[in-house]
Amino acid sequence: MSKIPEDAAERRAIAPVICYPVETLPAPDLGLYRAARAGARKVAEWRVPPREASDFSVPAGQFFRISSIEGPQVGDLNLWNADDMTERFYSGKTRALHGTHLTEGHRLWSSFPALRPMATVVTDSLAWYGVDAFGGRVHDVIGTRCDPYTGNLLSGTQYHHCCHSNLTRAVADARGMTLEDAEPHVHDVLNVFMCTGFTRDTGQYFMKASPVRPGDHLEFFAEIDLLGALSACPGGDCGDRHSSDAAACHALLVEVFAPEDGALQGWVPPARNGYDRSHGR
Ligand SMILES: [Zn+2]
Repeated sequence: MSKIPEDAAERRAIAPVICYPVETLPAPDLGLYRAARAGARKVAEWRVPPREASDFSVPAGQFFRISSIEGPQVGDLNLWNADDMTERFYSGKTRALHGTHLTEGHRLWSSFPALRPMATVVTDSLAWYGVDAFGGRVHDVIGTRCDPYTGNLLSGTQYHHCCHSNLTRAVADARGMTLEDAEPHVHDVLNVFMCTGFTRDTGQYFMKASPVRPGDHLEFFAEIDLLGALSACPGGDCGDRHSSDAAACHALLVEVFAPEDGALQGWVPPARNGYDRSHGR
């Protein structure tokens, strides 16, 4: 046990500062997006079966909506630049910029060196949830994705329908890859509809039954051409356990909506990051 210094209280009383103030982040024009969405028509849909994943694609300038349709269900979302899969969703940087959970107006940022918005959250039917008495919030970028390796580490299991494996199969099918080639493309997710936080006492990652109900949805504007994959987590509503077939699981729906021509006047896809990449040499 470490020795408590005399000025411990003083040191603890120092107020925190926000690591990345967002005032200078390029802000999305939500008014423009929502006006464009009002006149948009549905052009595609994918049903994600329980304990499986589906790939989907969304051209830049269109919207995609993830909906609960049959019962409370959490979804694990991966996104890639459709033309260059090395550019993919960067949950850690998204968390550093926007916080542990995402809602309307937040953006899903891509990996280095592009570091640009891939998608913007336009509508969140669970925005009302806010923060509960346990510190739980919805749609986190703190969990990684359930995976068979951690299951094996903790319980010695060989379970094949964790989100990691579901996403791996979806990428393999979408791009005609072997599982070995597809797996490295799978990355840390946006946990759609998942209700999570950290315990105050031990700082451990917790989950609790999602407040999502059929009809609830999270809708995004695609800032660049996207390949997506969504897994209907074997944890179901994640109120009890995951990484097994024990929880009740339900399908999720992905729908794509195309705005009318000219509805996005003035919008252009975001440019790749402007850092010159000389790294001091
Ligand atoms: Zn999962």
